[in-house]
Amino acid sequence: MRIAVVLQDRCQNRKCNHECERFCPLMRTGVECITWGERGKPVISEALCQGCGICVNKCQFDAIRIIGLADELKTELIHQYGENSFRLYRLPLPRKGMITGILGPNGIGKTTAIRILSGSEIPNLGDYTAPPSKEKVLEHFAGTDMQTYLSDVYAGKIKVALKPQYVDKLPATVKGVVRDLLGKVQERMTLEEAAGMFELTEVLDRELDKLSGGELQRLAMAATMMKEADVYFFDEPTSYLDIYQRVRMARLIKTLAAEKQVVVIEHDLAVLDYLADNVNVVYGTEGAYGVFTMARQVRTAINVYLDGYLPEENIRFRDRPIEFEASPPRGDWKTADLVEFDHVTKDFGGFRLEIGKGSVKIGESVGVVGPNATGKTTFVKMLAGVIEPDGGSIDARMKVSYKPQYISMEAEGTVQELLYASAYETVTSNFFQGEVIAPLGLKGLMEKEVRNLSGGELQRLAITLCLANDADIYLFDEPSAYLDSNQRMNTAKTIRRMMEKTGRSAMVVDHDIYFLDMVSDSMMVFGGTPGQHGIGEGPFDMREGMNRFLAAVDITFRRDTETHRPRINKPESRLDREQKSRGEYYYA
Ligand code: ADP
Ligand code: SF4
Repeated sequence: MRIAVVLQDRCQNRKCNHECERFCPLMRTGVECITWGERGKPVISEALCQGCGICVNKCQFDAIRIIGLADELKTELIHQYGENSFRLYRLPLPRKGMITGILGPNGIGKTTAIRILSGSEIPNLGDYTAPPSKEKVLEHFAGTDMQTYLSDVYAGKIKVALKPQYVDKLPATVKGVVRDLLGKVQERMTLEEAAGMFELTEVLDRELDKLSGGELQRLAMAATMMKEADVYFFDEPTSYLDIYQRVRMARLIKTLAAEKQVVVIEHDLAVLDYLADNVNVVYGTEGAYGVFTMARQVRTAINVYLDGYLPEENIRFRDRPIEFEASPPRGDWKTADLVEFDHVTKDFGGFRLEIGKGSVKIGESVGVVGPNATGKTTFVKMLAGVIEPDGGSIDARMKVSYKPQYISMEAEGTVQELLYASAYETVTSNFFQGEVIAPLGLKGLMEKEVRNLSGGELQRLAITLCLANDADIYLFDEPSAYLDSNQRMNTAKTIRRMMEKTGRSAMVVDHDIYFLDMVSDSMMVFGGTPGQHGIGEGPFDMREGMNRFLAAVDITFRRDTETHRPRINKPESRLDREQKSRGEYYYA
């Protein structure tokens, strides 16, 4: 079976010479394989197309996908948005008393599946011109658990609750203070109980637009879990939370799952691993098609995902496996110091920050960990000379390029226009194209309007803009937010390689342990009392940095026997206690 997809947001039919039509060998012999649709975009006949792939290569905007799929998928088409549009094959099934995880790249149908499972979208089974009725859909699934599930959803016998992905959009749609919002959903617990459980007590009377990302996330999770429902969908429940809060949130979800059905989309693999029982890996091509694979036990699912190969399906979806080192990298850096600092302090009145003695080396990527509001950004601003320290010394003032935690871009125009306007020379150089634009997957975004970008696309653009600036030190504040697991690994490698090759340095604040493991040469650890007293120490080598950081949040990791990837230990388990007594929280 062959499918042809025209990515509508990439196709620039007014800017090109209709290369797809001109070069299609069938068109040249008079076979009408490509016609022109209503909006002037090409329509490729899947019945006629021979799959030569010439149009795919000729399209200068990379807007066409011609993909051969296994024939057996034909009968498992769940939904198709239109002609030459995205197709979803198979669905995951929520199970009682279990947490079902969904793991796969962005733009591959996870949200579509959740919309179908929650009853807000009726699957058309591929018939987008005359969509089937609910009855026909149920007939299609006759005799399966999916039929039972969907018929209960359609009959209102199953109630669903959904935590949406983009919590930073909440203040735009919901007005008022936290207390008002939570007051309306006191079904499974009271406002006070929820406030305590989700650490919201201090912000109950705060307006939503004054909340941090982490607070918005906890608020959205609280509001969802307070509802009385049968199935709960959580789309990225932990972005913007620090690791301590991530593990805490995972425990709350586990408690809920003891009596309810829970489905979770989560890109932090350490958290997904700790949280889910079964995981459905989704593979496919962004914007073109997605296939839900059978539920696997969580450990196996993450291992095959990292390996890039699904043995049962015989599908390779990544060229090479993602690997972890069980022992820390050697800490003996040969390069000189870029900057040294010694007992730097800053007092803002309400907030006091103290930094120990340390240095950042040329070419080094420093992972920066610790709770929010402990002074990480303030410290980097002092390095930049934007904020004057009250005490201590910093031996050099550096040019800093900064990617903030929350990105909003109101810029008019396309991604390419914005990149060219910011740093034309750099962005168009072969070096930058190969080292940044390609691995971050920006090529396909160039013609998109900046204001239409999704959260993950915006994140990749912001990271690119940050790297395109000329600076001595690059600061990335939570670059992993809204990126899928694959993009996180690519981003980590990109940042680290750029620093090595250009001899600049980076500080990367993040909470995703796998991401930190991949991006960091060393670690700076922040602690203290958030919002009141921050203490920053390091950079330390990876072993010491991880140990100090994880000891503070009381979490240990063991290693997977096959892949060496880190896995969160159950608190008070034999390994947890044994590792704590040895002081080894992360490396074996
Ligand atoms: P994910 O949740 O995995 O990121 P989605 O389910 O949101 O993926 O989307 C999968 C693909 O379906 C997207 O790339 C998009 O192109 C397409 N899509 C989503 N909604 C629509 C729609 N209403 N009309 C047409 N295409 C859509
Ligand atoms: Fe024509 Fe199909 Fe070849 Fe594209 S892949 S050029 S539509 S035959």
